[in-house]
Amino acid sequence: MRQSSPLLLQTPRGLYCQAGDFYIDPTQAVDRAVITHGHSDHARRGMKSYVCHSDCVPILRHRLGPGINVHGIGYGQRTVINGVDVSLHPAGHIIGSAQVRVEYRGEVWVVSGDYKRQPDPFAAAFEPVPCHTFITETTFGLPLYAWPNVDTISADINAWWRQQASHGHTCVVQAYALGKAQRIMGMVDASIGPILAHGSIHAMNSVLASAGHALPTWRELLPTTPAALLKGALILSSAQTLDFLPSNLGVAHAAASGWMALASRRAAYDAAFVVSDHVDWRGILDTIADTGAERVLTTHGYADVVARYLQEQGLDAASLHDA
Ligand SMILES: [Zn+2]
Repeated sequence: MRQSSPLLLQTPRGLYCQAGDFYIDPTQAVDRAVITHGHSDHARRGMKSYVCHSDCVPILRHRLGPGINVHGIGYGQRTVINGVDVSLHPAGHIIGSAQVRVEYRGEVWVVSGDYKRQPDPFAAAFEPVPCHTFITETTFGLPLYAWPNVDTISADINAWWRQQASHGHTCVVQAYALGKAQRIMGMVDASIGPILAHGSIHAMNSVLASAGHALPTWRELLPTTPAALLKGALILSSAQTLDFLPSNLGVAHAAASGWMALASRRAAYDAAFVVSDHVDWRGILDTIADTGAERVLTTHGYADVVARYLQEQGLDAASLHDA
């Protein structure tokens, strides 16, 4: 049953539910925000109140400030906001990431947030949620984005690290501080050498470990870290290069990202690993089918391309910005 006005509407402040008077991942200060996950393009400062998954609470406090008004709920736990049913469901993107299911007068919308279908050692596995309208991210919504098997990538990273370490070299892997860094830590064979985490990655690891997540052992990388510990180590850094590393140290640089599917992006590194915390092209199409949605709205990245493709397949689809 379709309401006369959309249950969720794209507004200048973000995705808005008028019936419940709340926003999902708002871009400007609002009273009530439902947050899909802790990345900075989804969780912003300035909201009077936040609702998110309970595993996301310490992440928001770390990134937005300890004094924020935040309420954490579990996956599948129903909460009612001004008469609208809201629940969060695993998105598989990062620790504490969630899809948002919104139900009002028999109509169900699901907002995917960022999501992936591949296994992750720390993020709860994605669960398709049946709905009438599905809002899907399309960051990597082109057929060229087809993620390799995770076990293959793990073996590739380990082989690269082992080979570099055997020459006494140091490996630097550039990765996002929240999500990707921890995923890489869980994918590699730590018996090869020590794992060192720089700056924001060490800080985020500390937050997550304090919250009870069983991360593999790591040490903080500091300018004072002795060269003997650097040799053969795997360094995780959100920056591509680390200027303070000794100049006589043999350093190999790699990146772990979905963008490494592009040769032009790989060129800047000694090694590149296609590891994405987003869904690939086939995963987007499979997920849309799994939800059984009769209407699909696309957002982020290739929203227009995916919407047009879905229309050609006979689906009721549009870019969220055009809806
Ligand atoms: Zn994200």
